Amino acid sequence: MKYCKKCVQPDTRPSLVFDKEQVCAACRFSEEHPHIDWKQREKELQKIAEWARTHSNGGFDCVVGVSGGKDSTFQSLYVRDRLGLNPLLVNCAPDNISEVGRQNLENLVQHGFDLISIRPNPQIERALSLRAFREYGNFVKPLEYPLYASAFRIALNYRIPLVVQGENPAITLGIIDAMEPDGNAMNWKNSPTVAGGNIDEWLGEGIEPKNLIFYQFPNTDEMERVNIQAIFLSYYTKEWSNTGNTQFSVSRGLRGRPGHDPNKVGKTNPYFSIDADLKVVNQMLRYLKFGFGSITDEVCYDIREGRITREQGIELVNKYDGKCSDGYIMEWCKYIGIEEKEFWAIADVWVNKRLFHKDEWGKWSQKFTAGEDFNEE
Ligand SMILES: [Zn+2]
Repeated sequence: MKYCKKCVQPDTRPSLVFDKEQVCAACRFSEEHPHIDWKQREKELQKIAEWARTHSNGGFDCVVGVSGGKDSTFQSLYVRDRLGLNPLLVNCAPDNISEVGRQNLENLVQHGFDLISIRPNPQIERALSLRAFREYGNFVKPLEYPLYASAFRIALNYRIPLVVQGENPAITLGIIDAMEPDGNAMNWKNSPTVAGGNIDEWLGEGIEPKNLIFYQFPNTDEMERVNIQAIFLSYYTKEWSNTGNTQFSVSRGLRGRPGHDPNKVGKTNPYFSIDADLKVVNQMLRYLKFGFGSITDEVCYDIREGRITREQGIELVNKYDGKCSDGYIMEWCKYIGIEEKEFWAIADVWVNKRLFHKDEWGKWSQKFTAGEDFNEE
């Protein structure tokens, strides 16, 4: 396992690209950031907004997929107040939405928006989650489909010309092996999680296409026929940043996770993915699979935005990465309908044994030190 020399991203992240100097693509993009002609990009954005207004025939000009968190709060207010668009917000609610997630979504709507909230069938959701846990060691995987596809579906159904997404992970995570680092969000479905956006692999075991309508990305021909465009807002506006979006949204009523404890959730920022607490369990699984979890993502943003040094970031990663309280694991087991013993029997299969070994207490313990290249053999 090799680490980026500038941040703490390991090369175990799928589709991440390093250059010859062992620096990740996300760090290279962030070096370019101050030199980008932002005025030009914002002009392009205004042009797209103008195009959307003329094509909406007085209806909604754009769809914004929202969770009510820091990014979607910024996005919604930006497209309305800065671009002068009339947005329709689309939310795909997680089955086990947290109380603070519910409050944040309500806070956003109260700023004066129309919202369509989609709630995929929870029985199907649970069945797919369990299957994905067994087959991929990643139970969130199928849930990402309706999360992203829903904005496109609604745009198509209501003939809304523009879909506005937040950030392009090709740029912010450096996964340029999977996606283009540009402003075109039509290629969302190529992101590693939803790999093509085709639901076929989730069919079977009693699940039919009619159960997965909100999971299926509309096909590109269909979208092109009605002339729908999709953009990543982060590509066009200099203001987009993690901290910037958080500060902006907090000043407009966004709340963080109450009683936030990094030892229980494996991250220090109380504003990171707050709508579904049980995702913490999935972050721990990702840590055991790839050797990095939630706080690695978090500190990499902070290092690139100059808020902490690489050393401080590494310290936080070594302290908190992969942390997840037993309470969350038990809660997830109860929710999905398995015993904790079965949970570990499945999870153990997915642990990268070159990176982890079982200690004398029977717990997985990392062999590597974050930030230091590690020979897996
Ligand atoms: Zn990096």
